[in-house]
Amino acid sequence: MTATTARPAAAPSAVVDRLALDDPGPATPQLRELRLQARAFAANARAAGRFEPMCDSWHAGWDPDFSRLLAKQGWVGMTLPTEYGGAGRTAVERYVVVEELLAAGAPLAAHWAADRQMGPSIQRLGTAAQRARWLPPIARGECSFAIGMSEPDSGSDLASVRTRAQRTDDGWRLNGAKVWVTGGYHADALLVLARTAPHDPAQRHAGLSQLLVPANTPGVTVRPIRSLLGPQHLAEVIFTDVVLPADALLGVEGQGWAQVTAELAVERAGPERFLSTFPLVELAVSAACRSGDRSALALAGDVLAQLWTLRRMSFRVAARLDRGRSAEVPAALVKELGTRFEVESVDVARRLLGVEPDASSADPAARLLGQALRSLPAFTLRGGTNEILRGLIARGLRTA
Ligand SMILES: Cc1cc2nc3c(=O)[nH]c(=O)nc-3n(C[C@H](O)[C@H](O)[C@H](O)COP(=O)(O)OP(=O)(O)OC[C@H]3O[C@@H](n4cnc5c(N)ncnc54)[C@H](O)[C@@H]3O)c2cc1C
Repeated sequence: MTATTARPAAAPSAVVDRLALDDPGPATPQLRELRLQARAFAANARAAGRFEPMCDSWHAGWDPDFSRLLAKQGWVGMTLPTEYGGAGRTAVERYVVVEELLAAGAPLAAHWAADRQMGPSIQRLGTAAQRARWLPPIARGECSFAIGMSEPDSGSDLASVRTRAQRTDDGWRLNGAKVWVTGGYHADALLVLARTAPHDPAQRHAGLSQLLVPANTPGVTVRPIRSLLGPQHLAEVIFTDVVLPADALLGVEGQGWAQVTAELAVERAGPERFLSTFPLVELAVSAACRSGDRSALALAGDVLAQLWTLRRMSFRVAARLDRGRSAEVPAALVKELGTRFEVESVDVARRLLGVEPDASSADPAARLLGQALRSLPAFTLRGGTNEILRGLIARGLRTA
């Protein structure tokens, strides 16, 4: 699959242009071209009414049609091998495309988890049969995934999960419950972290495994959790005697902790951890520039300086992943600093724009501010809280 988008019908982002936000690492002509293609695609799609820019679009913008449109461009499952329908691109190339789509506020949630982590995990750990089954629909944007890690009493302390998968003669029997499952109400499948051996307090991280669970398997019950993001955004997923085949197991039995830890590095390091509010930031910075007011410009400058630094950090993690290196601590750094930036950026935008937040307003500034405020409490929680990340960073320094 190749990207064949025409040049933008609408002007690209003013802020992006003003800052010449080129690739935050060594830019090649190919990367620059890819960035311009993604920018043009987003501008054209927006001009065609395919989406209205929104905050937190990777988390709250569920639009399967848009995901399929992106897949046709080769931008879902970008890093998956071509033999499985992927585009065979690098993590750095994916970074460039994703950054442009996030900056545009395009709806990415329907393919986000599958594209970012389940696809690459299945490619890395799966059998040939698992790859053949799961990767092509992921790359077509036709298979959405949800992350089943957290439980009612196991959020930060994932090693204490109680969901249990027991071996049967020809597979697994799954019992337990997951909570705060993003997209759980709509997802086609879940990747579930479960205990496959009794809990051993002396080896807390042992005995965990990951299982691929189609959402329509009998015994899977999905209950929506009402939140600020709407009635069907988060879900509780209950597993009652769910019968799964032997090849539901992803990777190695008992190695779930190591597998999840590697996955979390990918989950935490991407540009979504500091660009959730970008459409709002862009409006606010543009307003500051128009006003010419010195204190407004100082605020805008501060935001943009932080943004630039975060982009460089995140880009370097993508490059590190391309080299097959581990990135647990750098990823924690990106997420800790990035999500704090997101929280602060909302306050700066509120001050610069001077509008009342209203997520359903026709005024873009009021609407984006309303959306950002709705998502803000989650920024520093989802994917691991900032307290937990700071502990991880400190331990990383100790062993460095
Ligand atoms: C919007 C949203 C979407 C989410 N999506 C998903 C999803 O798709 N899949 C999924 O599996 N989970 C998801 N989560 C769950 C998220 O990962 C957990 O909420 C998070 O890990 C915290 O766990 P907890 O809620 O159980 O809080 P707890 O672990 O009970 O923590 C409560 C507080 O105590 C602090 N704390 C806990 N332990 C320590 C410690 N050792 N040191 C210092 N402070 C500590 C925490 O930082 C936090 O402030 C989502 C959460 C949100 C808010």
